[in-house]
Amino acid sequence: MAILRRDYLIVGAGVAGGSVCEGIRQYDPKGTVMLVGNEGELPYSRFRLFGGGVAAEIPSLEDLRIFSPTWYAEQAIDARLDTPVRQLNLERHLAVLSTGQVVEFRKACLATGTRVHRPLVAGAALGNLFYLRSWRDVIALREASASEPHLAVVGGGAVAGLVAAQFAQRSGSQVFLVHRGKALWNRLLDEASAAWLTGYYESKGVQMRVGEALNGFEGRTALKNIQTKSGQRFPAGAAVVAFGLEMNLGLVANTPLSYPHGTPVNEFLETDEKGIYAAGAIAAYPDKIFGGVRRSELEDCARHQGLVAGANMTGKKRQRFEWMPHRTLTVFDLRFEWVGDFSRTPTRLEVEGDRASRQFLVRYFLHGNLQGVTCCNQSPEVVADWKERVRNQPREFKRHAA
Ligand SMILES: Cc1cc2nc3c(=O)[nH]c(=O)nc-3n(C[C@H](O)[C@H](O)[C@H](O)COP(=O)(O)OP(=O)(O)OC[C@H]3O[C@@H](n4cnc5c(N)ncnc54)[C@H](O)[C@@H]3O)c2cc1C
Repeated sequence: MAILRRDYLIVGAGVAGGSVCEGIRQYDPKGTVMLVGNEGELPYSRFRLFGGGVAAEIPSLEDLRIFSPTWYAEQAIDARLDTPVRQLNLERHLAVLSTGQVVEFRKACLATGTRVHRPLVAGAALGNLFYLRSWRDVIALREASASEPHLAVVGGGAVAGLVAAQFAQRSGSQVFLVHRGKALWNRLLDEASAAWLTGYYESKGVQMRVGEALNGFEGRTALKNIQTKSGQRFPAGAAVVAFGLEMNLGLVANTPLSYPHGTPVNEFLETDEKGIYAAGAIAAYPDKIFGGVRRSELEDCARHQGLVAGANMTGKKRQRFEWMPHRTLTVFDLRFEWVGDFSRTPTRLEVEGDRASRQFLVRYFLHGNLQGVTCCNQSPEVVADWKERVRNQPREFKRHAA
């Protein structure tokens, strides 16, 4: 039986997958490494793409890649793009590629990330509807929306806010944002800040249709209107649908590596299947700082996990994964940063500064413990200081674990 043999197989060529390669090479310069991705590009930063690219200059792939093509060649990484892994046999350490080839590996890391959630409504496949995920998607959106007088965004999270702000900064187009929640970023901000931000978008010319659930998209081949459940209709020649992400866990469906909250790993990022690791947006890891289990869709986490998983896979290093969540989003003249844990409902909030002056911060407490701080237009020193304070806050679960 013709089989390709590799010491390391990495499934998924996003930031996590690329970083696993680097982590391996730091401790094992010789082992054979195969990186398999189903997209046509080497790992690049989606965060930097979406952070500033829709209306302004879109960065080139050269600028976005985490390593240049020559790095993979120099490091003898066998990178196979446009090649989904079709099957994985966790017990026998075998993978089947879309080309039909079989790969036998010693260790593997799953880094299959996420895909965009598509709503089950009429017209969801019409032309000029965009589900942003890749560099190509952003280029296509720019082309389709360039001279379009009516633009829309459906959704109320980070991506929806970024795209609506960038649409609004273009002159001439009428921009609608349709969101079923009460306010924009209602899951990212406290209630009063989210309400204030929604008003701020209005003041910048975005027509905010909050509290309106999507009913469907109208048009024959291309999008014409967006319809809400309350019967309202908004014209849109191009729209972005940003309803959140779903994990790519089909490869390990019906195994203990596929749970609704992700692929469980230990503090070394290894799964219960010996020699199989997971990193990036699918990995559900024990959180050393806040306790419990966490899964992060942030790029910084994917980068760090990739490095740690790769190092641990070599067996020459045993690193525990610990990561302090820190997210940044810039819309209009507002730079928001979140440091800490916002996954639990706070028992108390403290606001410092004035939202109207566009410079404030909100501290989140859980039973007296500082869990996180949202900063708006704060200096790097202030953010770094709060990050340290949140990290160093004594927590009950640590006393029990000690
Ligand atoms: C629209 C959008 C906005 C974002 N905004 C932010 C942000 O504001 N801040 C931030 O920090 N991060 C942001 N991110 C997330 C970030 O860019 C990374 O996507 C995230 O960190 C996860 O990286 P990853 O490598 O785990 O997964 P991904 O980037 O999802 O990469 C996984 C790769 O594996 C591939 N794959 C899946 N299944 C298979 C298979 N069977 N065989 C081969 N390949 C497979 C996928 O196609 C993909 O190429 C955003 C992402 C998107 C899409």
